[in-house]
Amino acid sequence: MEVTKCLECESELMGRIDKKFCNDQCRNIYNNRENRDSNEYVRKVNTILRKNRRILEKLNPK
Ligand SMILES: [Zn+2]
Repeated sequence: MEVTKCLECESELMGRIDKKFCNDQCRNIYNNRENRDSNEYVRKVNTILRKNRRILEKLNPK
């Protein structure tokens, strides 16, 4: 039998092979962190886009 590990705490998982976490707490911690990372990425991209727009407006006021 193949051993899968919890994506959060890396303890070995028993039972269904498609399980990714040992319990709800680990799943929540993991998902919250993933969400925060992607939000941070979106924020950075938005900041760059805003800067670019300001530069473009300055260079091309029409
Ligand atoms: Zn876990």
